[in-house]
Amino acid sequence: MDHVLSLKCLICGKEYAPHEVDYVCPDHGNDGILDVQYDYDLIAQRISLGDLLHSTDHTIWRYKALLPIQPDSPVPPLAVGWTPLYRADWSAAQLGLKHLWIKDDGRQPTASFKDRASAVGVVKAQERGAKIITTASTGNAAAALAGLCASVRQANVIFVPESAPQAKIAQLLVFGSTVLLVKGSYDQAFELCLLAAKEYGWYNRNTGYNPYMTEGKKTASYEICEQLGWQAPDRVFVSVGDGCIIGGLHKGLKDLLALGWIDRLPKLMGVQAAGSAYMAQAWANDEDVLTKPAIQATTLADSISAGLPRDRIKAMAAVRETDGAYLQVSDQEILAAIPALARGCAVFAEPAGAAAYAGLLKAVGEGLVSPDERTVVLVTGSGLKDVASAMKSVQQVGTQPHYVGPDLGDVRRVMDGISFIPGE
Ligand SMILES: *Cc1c(COP(=O)(O)O)cnc(C)c1O
Ligand SMILES: [Zn+2]
Repeated sequence: MDHVLSLKCLICGKEYAPHEVDYVCPDHGNDGILDVQYDYDLIAQRISLGDLLHSTDHTIWRYKALLPIQPDSPVPPLAVGWTPLYRADWSAAQLGLKHLWIKDDGRQPTASFKDRASAVGVVKAQERGAKIITTASTGNAAAALAGLCASVRQANVIFVPESAPQAKIAQLLVFGSTVLLVKGSYDQAFELCLLAAKEYGWYNRNTGYNPYMTEGKKTASYEICEQLGWQAPDRVFVSVGDGCIIGGLHKGLKDLLALGWIDRLPKLMGVQAAGSAYMAQAWANDEDVLTKPAIQATTLADSISAGLPRDRIKAMAAVRETDGAYLQVSDQEILAAIPALARGCAVFAEPAGAAAYAGLLKAVGEGLVSPDERTVVLVTGSGLKDVASAMKSVQQVGTQPHYVGPDLGDVRRVMDGISFIPGE
């Protein structure tokens, strides 16, 4: 791992050798998030755009030379990454935009973006010889860890709030994880997981605590830029809970800039649920995220419900340093975005995934996006993760099934009342 220079504390700037610390800066408790520093000259000697052009590895491991793992570490067999980037011309035209793409990370092996981080987490745990890996999660990070662990037969213990959607809990149980359903919030599950990990000596994959999660998540930026022929987009919309994804996107873009593979950074647009808008508030009011206290988070978009975003330092830098913005969308706007995204772009998202699209709609409505900008919306999780919210979303727009008896007369009765309007 000679391409990794150090792990640098984002509060005090102190640098540690990778073998010295596994998680946060010892001087700053759980807030001392570390950032992996690379030797880009060395990386440039080991991987080139030409290599990628000829690579037949269509997973995140095509970028292995840019990841903080040993070159000879075995990687899990699940196909994580290289998710499709769809042009969304019809929706773009409706919105008065010329260039819109949807990156569908609902297509990951466990159906959310979190597979990118868990894949790297499992490799790091195995490099450390860990017997057990643990994480707290609103559901998707847990499902991702459960699936990735199953793929390498690694034992794991998962803490999720008991209110997590059924599909996510089902994934954990089916993959064979030891599941602790916490009678409390995600924030409480997080604290409990840290305590338990210390007590039992488990390897900790927690978001905004384990510095390598950002590094897995940054691969989405590599893919977006590569899929666009190494022409960075102008804007990327992404939903924000703990802030690890947006921080990861930023890190990936900075890597590409350092290597000279792109020539500028897109504006990162962080979208939060109005009921869980810690970052959006801090951004709007210019508050310091190191002193701003936790808020009470309530939103139906469970994956972005976080009272104290664990990766808030990186998440704030991502928006500030790219001249982006934070936006808030209501739960109603999130629900409305589920069918809008599915009908306009044919991507079925869970609420937190659709929130990014709701953010785009809001930004366009406010005149923040100019028609010529090349815009990407990152859909972070599949709609099948939360069918109850999907059903609510169609009720909200008045879409209902038609009940018929098993005879053609009934079908005629229904069809007589329906007209198909071209283009609708
Ligand atoms: C985790 C998650 C997010 C938010 O990511 P953070 O790193 O917590 O900001 C968004 N959407 C989905 C579907 C997620 O699972
Ligand atoms: Zn420190």
